[in-house]
Amino acid sequence: MSTLIQEGKTPEEILNILAQGTEQILKRSDISYTCNCSKDGFIKSLSALDEDTLHEIIHEDGQAEIECHFCGKKYLFSKEELKQIQVNRKKK
Ligand SMILES: [Zn+2]
Repeated sequence: MSTLIQEGKTPEEILNILAQGTEQILKRSDISYTCNCSKDGFIKSLSALDEDTLHEIIHEDGQAEIECHFCGKKYLFSKEELKQIQVNRKKK
């Protein structure tokens, strides 16, 4: 993930990349028309972001909206939810 920052990607672009990654996983597993995306899945993606990026999203955007590129479902993460992700992963 740190290479994305070095390339000067904005948090929005990174979220987009995360969503596309999910799409590829879904296509590969051949789920056809049933999309198994879940908010939990995107929470895992967000948890994988480095501290600086997560901090930037929380403090500059205040929220994150991730659209599943497979089924078009949108998941909105509020500032509180993003902070929760930040706190939870530190416990590990
Ligand atoms: Zn989906």
